[in-house]
Amino acid sequence: MSHSEDVEACLPAFAGSFYVAATVAGSRARASVLRTAHGPICCPVFMPVGTQASVKSLAPDELRALDVQIVLANTYHLSMRPGPEVVARLGGLHRFMAWDRPILTDSGGFQIFSLGHLSLLTDDGVLFRSHIDGSRHFLSPERAMEIQEQLGADIIMALDECIPHTADRSYQKLAMERTHAWASRCQRAQRRSDQLLFGIVQGGMEQELRHDSALYLSEMDFPGYGIGGLSVGETKAVTYEMIEACTEVLPEVKPRYLMGVGSPEDLLEGIDRGIDMFDCVLPTRIARNGALFTRTGRLNIRNAANTLADEPIEPDCHCYTCTNFSRAYLRHLFKADELLGLRLASIHNLHFLLDLVRGARQAILDGRFPAYKRDFLGAYRSTDQAVRIAQKERWLAAVRVTSKQGSGSAHGKRVASTQK
Ligand SMILES: [Zn+2]
Repeated sequence: MSHSEDVEACLPAFAGSFYVAATVAGSRARASVLRTAHGPICCPVFMPVGTQASVKSLAPDELRALDVQIVLANTYHLSMRPGPEVVARLGGLHRFMAWDRPILTDSGGFQIFSLGHLSLLTDDGVLFRSHIDGSRHFLSPERAMEIQEQLGADIIMALDECIPHTADRSYQKLAMERTHAWASRCQRAQRRSDQLLFGIVQGGMEQELRHDSALYLSEMDFPGYGIGGLSVGETKAVTYEMIEACTEVLPEVKPRYLMGVGSPEDLLEGIDRGIDMFDCVLPTRIARNGALFTRTGRLNIRNAANTLADEPIEPDCHCYTCTNFSRAYLRHLFKADELLGLRLASIHNLHFLLDLVRGARQAILDGRFPAYKRDFLGAYRSTDQAVRIAQKERWLAAVRVTSKQGSGSAHGKRVASTQK
């Protein structure tokens, strides 16, 4: 069942859009199928990110060769350039980017909150400046829905308020309640019946708030749920606790999407805790720095040790890169700044994560998921937590959002420091 096109034929008839095919005793892991307007998706699934309606350096036929089932596109970037009206006039995102399989778009909120473009936040929505030309724009729940309907993805996300992991409890609660109110407005504003609208669980790093948020949104009966605001600088132990607080409450009969999380260990830990969908820029971003996934950890292809290495990145990897090229050739491409190096590295890294998640799905179906997870994690040396948090802190340093009125204020007005 590796090709989603083949899945429909094997499926028992089911009325809803989500079907759980197998579960695992002593775990929340499940193998499932999510039906969308552009075909079914076998879950758990990893979704490559095509920020600008393009998975960086790869063409759609290469994504199909990797058996990518669904890609994510960023509403913020596409609404700034070329604009949702342009995409709509050109037939929608599928036709525009020549991708006939499912697409998911985010709401656009995360980039506004995390990249420091925010000018003013009220209960109505967010006022922000374009990172391209500084022009002012307003994003409300209604506008987020309108833009995503123009883009035409199969799965669309409600607008949520994303906050730093260091925000205090009173602000976490305020942001969560605003997220709930916005989720309700998104539901009311939805016009297209061929798009699945997912609500997003927030609640910061507080188990009780995560629980409350999952419960509140469950009662709103969305066709699926995102879990937002995780892997933003907190420890992995906290990330996993928060996932559990959400998945123990979210309905079994709906897909659960852990937003922006995708290191190999996070994928397996997330699946074990009941996550069905993941997206992350990690495989393609680190590929462009010459960092390649292997079963034992990350490999830096630029290292001198690879100068004469005639073997592939991984001998038993079936990706196009590993079946054709040596580590030495890849190192040469990176040292010479050749574009092909970025492409071949991206292909391998995407294949690695897609294959890891496909393998997890098959292991769930075969009743051997605990051993699959144990074997992988036993051999894989994850990037040291201290290094990982330092990397994330540098990223957060670029987050220029500061609280003007202090956390917990009634209207949570926040102003980007660049505006001061
Ligand atoms: Zn490979």
